[in-house]
Amino acid sequence: MLSLSLLAVGAITWAGLAQAIEAEPSDDTAPAVVGAAAPTSPPILSREKWRAKPALPGLKPQKIGGIILHHTAVRKNPRVSIENKMRNLQSFSQQPGKVSATHSKPAWPDVPYHFYVDFAGRIAEGRDVNFAGDTNTNYKPAGFVQVVVEGDFEKETPDPAQLAALRELLVWLSLRFDVPPQKITMHQNHAATSCPGRNFKAALPALLAQVEMRRRKAVNEFCAESLENRRTPICEETASLPRDRAGIAR
Ligand SMILES: [Zn+2]
Repeated sequence: MLSLSLLAVGAITWAGLAQAIEAEPSDDTAPAVVGAAAPTSPPILSREKWRAKPALPGLKPQKIGGIILHHTAVRKNPRVSIENKMRNLQSFSQQPGKVSATHSKPAWPDVPYHFYVDFAGRIAEGRDVNFAGDTNTNYKPAGFVQVVVEGDFEKETPDPAQLAALRELLVWLSLRFDVPPQKITMHQNHAATSCPGRNFKAALPALLAQVEMRRRKAVNEFCAESLENRRTPICEETASLPRDRAGIAR
């Protein structure tokens, strides 16, 4: 199993990640061929770096088919470091507690999200992506990478730095786990909630168009690299698509 704690701070290359995967006795089900077209990951603060506690028992393995976007529903807070925010989120998550006047939550094994994007666009690793997230709302979180962005986007707007970081994260995740951009959705598409907020919702179409474009570019570059690459399913699929004048499959 691939543990994302292999991702130290700083961009890592696909080759490095592939080596890390090979180094483990693996039941990793991520599609290596599509993953091979994945660009370098954006910088991700590892669990080790924010000094995460180990996950508690009870994690449920998952196979990734989509990505769900959330907001923290709490105003951005530049005064608290991302390390502290992650540690606070983890201690809140790992004990039973109140989430509203009428709702309480059980102790979860770990933070409910797989990735956290803070107010400045820094990204931290949350729960191991190989295990399903957790939710207070009524839907099954298994099968999704859960990404949360810091802010109350009913009232605030996402910062350009947050959107840029999220875009790079989504391009990488979509290629790494072969999630087409159409499978990137919002929490409110799955359950009765305003999450991730109306101002985030307004910014999403443009963001997803950029993700789609960059994803296509990364696949095209990968396929142009060698004959061997061109024979992989993702390139054969792309080659059968009509191309625009710049030669980019659409
Ligand atoms: Zn949510």
